[in-house]
Amino acid sequence: MSDIPPITFQSHAPGYWSNEDPTRENSSENWNSHTWQLKNRITSLAALEKYLNLSEEERAGVLLSGNKLAMAITPHFFNLIDKDDPGCPIRRQMIPRIEETLTDPSEMSDPCGEDSHMPVPGLVHRYPDRVLFLVTDRCAAYCRYCTRSRVVSGVSDQKLETQWEAAFEYLENTPAIRDVLLSGGDPLLFSDARLEKLLKRLHAIPHIQYVRIGTRIPIFLPQRITPELCEMLKKYHPLFISIHANHPRELTSEVKDALGRLADAGIPMGNQSVLLNGVNDSVEVQKELLHKLLMCRVRPYYLYQCDLIEGSAHLRTSIDKGISIIEGLRGHTSGYAIPQYVIDGPGGGGKIPINPDYVVKHEDGAITLRNYEGKQFYYPDQSPVSNPTKR
Ligand SMILES: *Cc1c(COP(=O)(O)O)cnc(C)c1O
Repeated sequence: MSDIPPITFQSHAPGYWSNEDPTRENSSENWNSHTWQLKNRITSLAALEKYLNLSEEERAGVLLSGNKLAMAITPHFFNLIDKDDPGCPIRRQMIPRIEETLTDPSEMSDPCGEDSHMPVPGLVHRYPDRVLFLVTDRCAAYCRYCTRSRVVSGVSDQKLETQWEAAFEYLENTPAIRDVLLSGGDPLLFSDARLEKLLKRLHAIPHIQYVRIGTRIPIFLPQRITPELCEMLKKYHPLFISIHANHPRELTSEVKDALGRLADAGIPMGNQSVLLNGVNDSVEVQKELLHKLLMCRVRPYYLYQCDLIEGSAHLRTSIDKGISIIEGLRGHTSGYAIPQYVIDGPGGGGKIPINPDYVVKHEDGAITLRNYEGKQFYYPDQSPVSNPTKR
């Protein structure tokens, strides 16, 4: 039995970024305000260079990636960055690199084929019983591997043009839809009043059983998860939230408190993470992330193979790597900690599970399985007793 490494939820507010600049109003009142955090996002090369020692690949990336996906990092998230290490897992997610400007023929601007599955602009209806509703094109900060970078952040030519009334009418007139997933962009960037208006309208549709919100705001901007927001959200149960954390360092004490407020409001939470080269592509990093998530009352939901978005080759891993990570988790940690590894079928196949193969042999009358330790087990595969002629 190996020792369990200590789990810590460090506070990073305020860190070196706000302390080093006396011209910033870095009072804790400002720091704890989400509007201050948004207003003071790091968006330029000059601001980055003031605080970080950039590599050539990063400097060129910042200069050349600007018309594809904007760069923006909240001070809270920026403070998690290692100043001197270009391999820092937070840096790799947030700071463009020159490799982003290279595209492979297999890569796409719309890797999940969303635009061709929109009955109404802004509403992706791929599965029979649920829809993805794109309610904004803005986020608190921008992930370099964003699958929706063709419209997100507002700098590329294509714009998200959600047709609100047509979308509500489609939802109201399609009784097969029982589950609406709000995403974008990040829906928690809306004011409480605007978000409530949206939830109220959806809540009034009888065949919609529950709503889910996909958001990275608890990670990028935990200050946004105010008691007032939680009070509002809890009026619209059943309501689920899917957060997006990729590395254990993202789960700071501020984030843990924000997630605690959402959990106390009775909101079940899942985490969707993306398997990223140099960020979270090892069993050790994944285990620490998954255990910290559970300690924050968040159940790991999906681990995505990185979509084939243009310019993401440097962030993608092999599929074998993903499978071996899941193998390194199953049996070795709580089942609750293990996300489902999926590939979102390129061109619009939906999420397809990928699993390690535990079936050694499955023939007439028996299955031979291997367990997490490699031991083999034999299970007779008989027909039900109620059908005796086939026994
Ligand atoms: C991910 C996704 C959903 C939700 O999928 P679940 O597996 O139910 O979480 C629904 N619609 C679209 C278009 C999606 O991409």
